[in-house]
Amino acid sequence: MATGKIGVTTENIFPVIKKFLYSDHEIFLRELVSNAIDATQKLKTLSSFGEFKGELGEMNVKVSIDKEAGTLTISDHGIGMDAEDINKYINQIAFSGAEEFLQKYKDTANSIIGHFGLGFYSAFMVSKKVVIKSLSYKEGAKAVEWVCDGSPEYEMREIEKNDRGTDVILYIDDDNKEFLEQLRIDTLLKKYCRFLPVPVLSGKEQEWKDGKYVDTDKDKVINASEPLWTKKPAELTDNDYLEFYHELMPGMEDPMFWIHLNVDYPFTLTGILYFPKIRTNFDVQKNRIQLYCNQVYVTDQVEGVVPEFMTLMQGVIDSPDIPLNVSRSYLQADQQVKKISAYISKKVAEKLDKMFKEDRKAFEEKWDDIKVFIEYGMLTDEKFYESAKKFFLLKDVSGTYYTLQEYKTLVEAEQTDKDNNVIYLYATDKSTQFPYIKAAEEKGYNVLLMDGQLDNHIIGFLEQKLEKIRFVRVDADIPDRLIVKSDSMDAGLTPLQTDVMSTVIRSQIPQVEKAQFIVSFAALKPTDAPATITQNEFMRRMKEMSEHQPGGGFYAQMPDSYEIIVNTKQPIVEKIIELASSSLQDRVAPIRAEIETLNNEISAAQKEAEEKKTPAPDLSDKQHKVADLRSEEEKIVSEYAKEQPKVRQIIDLALLQSHLLHGENLNDFIKRSIDMLD
Ligand code: ADP
Repeated sequence: MATGKIGVTTENIFPVIKKFLYSDHEIFLRELVSNAIDATQKLKTLSSFGEFKGELGEMNVKVSIDKEAGTLTISDHGIGMDAEDINKYINQIAFSGAEEFLQKYKDTANSIIGHFGLGFYSAFMVSKKVVIKSLSYKEGAKAVEWVCDGSPEYEMREIEKNDRGTDVILYIDDDNKEFLEQLRIDTLLKKYCRFLPVPVLSGKEQEWKDGKYVDTDKDKVINASEPLWTKKPAELTDNDYLEFYHELMPGMEDPMFWIHLNVDYPFTLTGILYFPKIRTNFDVQKNRIQLYCNQVYVTDQVEGVVPEFMTLMQGVIDSPDIPLNVSRSYLQADQQVKKISAYISKKVAEKLDKMFKEDRKAFEEKWDDIKVFIEYGMLTDEKFYESAKKFFLLKDVSGTYYTLQEYKTLVEAEQTDKDNNVIYLYATDKSTQFPYIKAAEEKGYNVLLMDGQLDNHIIGFLEQKLEKIRFVRVDADIPDRLIVKSDSMDAGLTPLQTDVMSTVIRSQIPQVEKAQFIVSFAALKPTDAPATITQNEFMRRMKEMSEHQPGGGFYAQMPDSYEIIVNTKQPIVEKIIELASSSLQDRVAPIRAEIETLNNEISAAQKEAEEKKTPAPDLSDKQHKVADLRSEEEKIVSEYAKEQPKVRQIIDLALLQSHLLHGENLNDFIKRSIDMLD
């Protein structure tokens, strides 16, 4: 028997392994089963090259529990190890250098395991003693046993063992008794080994007998399913892809489509990515892509490995170039992984481009469902945007789809404003914004429907990317001013009329919660609405953006500000103006004249003081007088307005159209309307 010290310079690395990997200690099983699979595959390869001439026999890996002995054993019929191999591969831990190991383990131990060839030693996370019994495939090899109790010392001796391959026997320590439960082991094997290329057996098949499930003699195979991604796309039917999808993602609806990845250079990568239907507003489950390394499950935390926007997709990616057992920060920094991410992004863009070119109609039919992926990609991945801008589609309210280029050509002539900006009008809700959409269409404008989860963001993004394009929501202004084609817009009122009418209207606007209104006038068509309420595009967007910020942000605190635009050419409004002018002229004109005189005196006195550089005179008397006169005017006008139900009626109609008429205001409106029917 030989004893020795494991070749690491530190006194005892096992406590380190135990401590650092505590949270993730279940991975020992993945490590040991992977080693067993590797050993099996190696022997198969040797056999296929004729370097191993013996019988392969049954090539499976078996995980068995012996509760009485307190052991978990992983057995394979692979290449096995002789004493020399054990010395080389097991005793000399971390070929890449113990120094390096010691320096690195302070970081995250998870990134060391595997990376430094420490997979086997993860067994000590759950074991007080580990025994290896192995018989190498080499002719005349002697079976050996290696025993180590978690200290750097080990014992090795020759033993009797007739079947080729390796048994790794773990004496599970007291803290980890869970790993002696068949159910726990089954769960782990299903998680990590479901797609392994060699049958993995554990426990027995069960059958229903005398009112309960009992073990049969048959070994239970864990990894029954064959991983689809390893097959050639040409050999697979849509049904194969769908079946595999449902196996991966039980309980999901059929995906929209999928991409089969297959690349040999400059790295090896296979996989299948599915585009699921995303129905509800962004309650998307991320982490639905599973990462494999040679069919061994690594993680479903794929951030950094696949481009951000693809975390919305589902499926599998398998690459031997993705290091097993590494922490996420390590993955993200890895150059190879970065290349993989860029490659996947490119592949997805190519697939979409191909779908668009080959069958535009089918692509359009899918568009509403895949839009969220594409928009997410465009927003987060510059390269993806460069490809996507060719197949990104805009949809108008009638359901017609356009590429960015097509849309520009469509609206350029009609919708260019005086500053040469092409204005893209859009609605976010076809039904509530219906009157605004209609009005814009009557002017010959096209209206887009931007009702997707990310459309808000994509609007701002496209304005940055596309030159001289601006998006304006249909209710941002009255149709005539949505696209301003000339500078002046005369409402056709005298200053006195403007003053009086502003007060008339303002005094009759009911209280609306969290809203404030300003009044303006425009000479529109007689057939246009008497009054329209609009919401400034900039303010609305600012508010919408700040709603997504933690705490709401500055803009979210502010009330919504609306503009009531009164159409001075509408016959009823014309009458209201006429009547107001004639009824109020005599009473308001003298007050106005007095205000004007006082204001002139005030500014003359201020000007004189300024020129003479004397201190400002005390004008407070005059200023107070102006204020008093103003409130007197206001009182006269609003008392008058109160008696004019039509004023309130046209305001209420505008509020109704904008969905701002509720509660008591709505009730008043209905009553007044009934009275007016009389
Ligand atoms: P890694 O698998 O990352 O190389 P491990 O510590 O898990 O690191 O294993 C070290 C080496 O020990 C393996 O590369 C392999 O040569 C050998 N080995 C481990 N388990 C087995 C096994 N079941 N059969 C044959 N060789 C094995």
